[in-house]
Amino acid sequence: MQVAPSVYFYPFTSTGENNCNTIILDGPEKVLIDPGHKHLWPHLVRQIEADGLSPTDISVVLHTHCHPDHMEAGEILEFDYGATQAMSAAEARFLQGPGQEFFPWMGLDFPRGSIGRTLEEGPLPLGDKTVYLYLCPGHTPGSLCLHWPEAKLLVTGDVLFAHSVGRTDFPGGSTPSLAASIERLAGLPEVELILPGHGPSLSGAARVAENFRAVRTFFN
Ligand SMILES: [Zn+2]
Repeated sequence: MQVAPSVYFYPFTSTGENNCNTIILDGPEKVLIDPGHKHLWPHLVRQIEADGLSPTDISVVLHTHCHPDHMEAGEILEFDYGATQAMSAAEARFLQGPGQEFFPWMGLDFPRGSIGRTLEEGPLPLGDKTVYLYLCPGHTPGSLCLHWPEAKLLVTGDVLFAHSVGRTDFPGGSTPSLAASIERLAGLPEVELILPGHGPSLSGAARVAENFRAVRTFFN
């Protein structure tokens, strides 16, 4: 569903399965953030096409982090639709090290695709817009959050949720790092819409501010 100009949000609501929320930034260079599990891809495609979008138009698949419930379907977009998979350089290194263990733990094959583009913190030009990437370690070592000031949008992956934060008890997790990452996000101006990796979105400046106040207390 469209939640703001050029912003589409596909929240995952099944209680019987785990999958992440998916986001598409529309425009001349279309980006799909967090494609989710492979076996749930047909379900997602139906929603995307119902919105008048096509997976063939996606040029970049941006993985907020390398957990299988977020990135497994990336290879479908690469092989079937020609998209480039991207994640932070730190996360790509983690995926080649301890991060690869998540796949066998979940009974899944390691992804066949490739990370064709590694990203650093900073501005990321996307056709008619520039978004800003923030390296937000804590849930994983190279988690990325995306800020698009013009849309007042913040995409948080598994760093920050509505009234919750990402787990830090998986390999590569760090509670102090997560606390520092959330402090950085809390300091960003112009955020009135948060689209997290799981659960509901947060819209409105007041709800965003209240959410940061609430989650900060977890670390005190
Ligand atoms: Zn995760």
